[in-house]
Order: sequence, then C-alpha cells, then structure tokens
Amino acid sequence: MQESNKLEKIISLCKRRGFVYPGSEIYGGLAGTWDYGPLGLTLKNNIKNSWWKKFVEERDDMYGVDAAILMNAKVWEASGHIAGFSDPLVECKNCRKKFRADHISEGNTETGKLELPKECPECGKFGTWLPESKFNMMFKTNVGPVEDKSFASYLRPETAQGMFVNFKNVMDSFHPRLPFGMAQIGKAFRNEISPRDFLFRAREFEQMEIEYFTRESEWEKIFENFRMEILKWLSDIGLGGGSIHELEVPAEDRAHYSKRTIDFEFDYPFGRKELLGLAYRTDFDLSAHINKSGADLLYYDEETKERFTSHCIEPSFGLDRAILAVLCEAYMEDELGGEARVFLKLKPSIAPVKAAVFPLLKNKPELVNKAREVFTELKKEIRPIVFDDNGNIGKRYRRQDEIGTPYCVTIDFDTLEDDTVTVRDRDTGKQERIKISELISLLKEYIY
Ligand code: ATP
Repeated sequence: MQESNKLEKIISLCKRRGFVYPGSEIYGGLAGTWDYGPLGLTLKNNIKNSWWKKFVEERDDMYGVDAAILMNAKVWEASGHIAGFSDPLVECKNCRKKFRADHISEGNTETGKLELPKECPECGKFGTWLPESKFNMMFKTNVGPVEDKSFASYLRPETAQGMFVNFKNVMDSFHPRLPFGMAQIGKAFRNEISPRDFLFRAREFEQMEIEYFTRESEWEKIFENFRMEILKWLSDIGLGGGSIHELEVPAEDRAHYSKRTIDFEFDYPFGRKELLGLAYRTDFDLSAHINKSGADLLYYDEETKERFTSHCIEPSFGLDRAILAVLCEAYMEDELGGEARVFLKLKPSIAPVKAAVFPLLKNKPELVNKAREVFTELKKEIRPIVFDDNGNIGKRYRRQDEIGTPYCVTIDFDTLEDDTVTVRDRDTGKQERIKISELISLLKEYIY
C-alpha cells in the first residue's frame, strides 16, 4: 500500500463509517476542525480512559483537574505565550498564500542553514516572498459585553497552565508530599497557519497532560520513569511496534524553559512526526506565576523546614495525534477467502465495537429470536456490541472488519440444537464453536 494513499483511505473510511467528519461540513467546512462521529467518539473515550486509568487512577500520587478553557490573560503573560507563542509566517507575494516558514524551508547544502524555497509551493512563482513575520497562534476573544482591552482573553493553547494555577489549591486541599503530579485532559486551541494532515495539525484539539512536581535533585530519575511508562502505555493502545521513535531534542531546538525534551515520534503516512513530548520544565512555570501573581506557590518541606519552588516534568500527549497514529497502525488491507478486504487491527480493549451478533438468516424467526437472546445477555456484560441481520453474512463480516470489531458471533441452525455459536476472529477470519454458557467469559478474556 502506498503511504500517500493510505492517509486518504483512512480519512475516507473515517467519514464513511462514522469515526470523524470534517467540521461544519454542510457550510463548506472550517479548516483545522474535525467532528468525531459515534465510533470515533467511542475510540477517543477508550484511549482517554486507558490513559487516565494508567496515569491517574492506578497511581496514588496523581491529582486530576478539569480547569476552565478561558483563563485570566495574566496567565498567558506569565507563561510567556503572549510574548512568544508564535510561528514564523511567510506570504507569497504572487498568490498571497501564507505558510509556516519552518515547514517549507530547506537546508542549504553549503551554509547548512534553513532557507525558504526559491519557488512558492502553491503557485510555483520564483522568488516571491514577503518579509517573514511572527504570528501569535492564540485565539483571542472578549469576555463580557464590553469590547475593552481589559476583558481580552484567549482560548487556552495548552492545558498545562490550568494545572500550574491550581497548584496551590491542590496543595491546600490534599497536602500532597513531593513528588506528586496533576493531570488534565481537555481541549486546546491553536490558530495554526496551515492546518493539515487530517487530525495531526488541527486548530482545535485535545491534550492529555501531566505536570509532575519534584525536587530538583530527583528530576532525572522521574524523567526516566515517565519515559518507560509512556512506552508501556503506547504499547497498551497498539503502538508497541517499531513505529515509535524517540528524538532527543537538541538544546537549540528546545523551548527556552526546557532542560531536556524527548519527542516521541510516530511514522505517520506523511512522515515521522511528533506524537507527544516529554519535557523537564525546571521551575520555570511556578516561578513565573509566583512573580506575576504574588501568590505563595512554594512547597514547604516539614522535615527539613525548607521552602522552595518545585521543579516539573511534563509528559504532554496529543489525543487526536494518538487516535490518528492508532488508526494508521491498525489500517490493513489483505485478502480473505479470495476477496480483498480492509480491516482495522485495533487492540480489542480500545476497539469502538467489541463484538457483533448475527443470526445466520434474517428470514428465520427462530434464528433471529435466539440471536436477540444471545445479544441481550452479552450486552449486559460486554459493551458496546451490535446486532446485525442486514445482507449476507460475508458482507456483515466485512462491515465489522472495517470498523475493527474484533469478534463476530453467529447463531446458526446448530445453535438451536446444541446451544453453541461460532465466534469469528477479525484478524484471521477463523471461526471456533463455543458453548453459549462459556461465551461471555471467553470474550471477556479475549477483549480485556
Ligand atoms: P508541533 O511542533 O508539531 O507543532 P508542538 O511541539 O508545538 O507540536 P506541544 O506544544 O509540545 O506541540 O504540544 C503537546 C502535544 O499537543 C503535541 O505533542 C501534540 O501531540 C499535540 N498538538 C500540538 N499541536 C497540535 C495541533 N495543532 N493539532 C493536534 N495536536 C497538537
């Protein structure tokens, strides 16, 4: 399969089968926005829940928050976003198309420096660039009815700051001892110059972030521990193969506050690109908020009687980039029973539909009734599952393969005789006969 086609095929499958639709589609769309349909939403929730379970619920040093998207503009002054959250913008004089300079620049083989291309990638005209400028990517808005500067606010471009501003609240409510972390899942907004590559670079997206607070002396150990936990979680959601690569970000490319950053990259069909980041942010953020707000965000160590600013390790996951990676990894084409098929080899634990139940024939009430009975019993324990009696059985299998349903349960004439059903495995197409009394426990074992 050609990698360039693969993304197009995934986008088309996502739309056709109800995973992801273009945002505001009936009005011609809105660039950089995507709407999740029923299956995409379930896949998204499964990935989110797996993350929350691993990084929050299963630990006893994590505190979850869900902060407001709109924050006091001073937050963004302190964090440096108002002054510096910008991308280099260039515009073609001829066709007026705007580009992110670092996305279209190429290395000059003699000087080794990045340079703009001689020709515009859009219109092909030679040497037509307007001077480069800085473009702040935050969406600005007004809070309240008066269009006055003092009411200006921004849609948050990262969830991280919602945790730093609640550091003191969590300390006061729960009195955690260092090291401990805060976690948040939520929307972030960036006015990307050129949104592209489906869910990869959107203007509205979701992040899953942790701010983990520690003493300066312990940061290296904790950083390494998160590095391992991240790899384990990626494997849990089906990204354990060779398509994840760690990039040690060199000092000159790191954010100014970071003393170490690893980008976890994935081999997307459009190239190896950042899926998530792990950064040691030092005490930059808490110090900046102490200075700007005057609030006491210091940590008091009862044993040593010291007061100091905590340092912070930040694993920052892009949920939509994770969903896209999972879809790219799972998308398969093969031949089964002499016919070409497309299937999503999703991990059963994150698949949006866990099983499908079919009566072999639609026009035999005894089969349909028995299938309904099995469906109702199964649904009490395993969800979501679907019932399908539409079209021939081969087509029903294909429909489930395409959305990644790991198991199909068929009720046939033998079922009426001996209370057994066939269970078909999505990946191999192989079927086994199982007693209905054992079906639930067997599927649970396969899926979870
Ligand atoms: P990039 O260099 O690709 O623009 P970034 O380094 O600016 O990404 P961070 O600021 O580190 O990204 O954001 C943390 C995570 O949020 C990223 O690793 C990514 O998963 C996600 N993310 C960032 N920007 C976008 C976007 N425009 N669309 C979807 N996800 C994004």
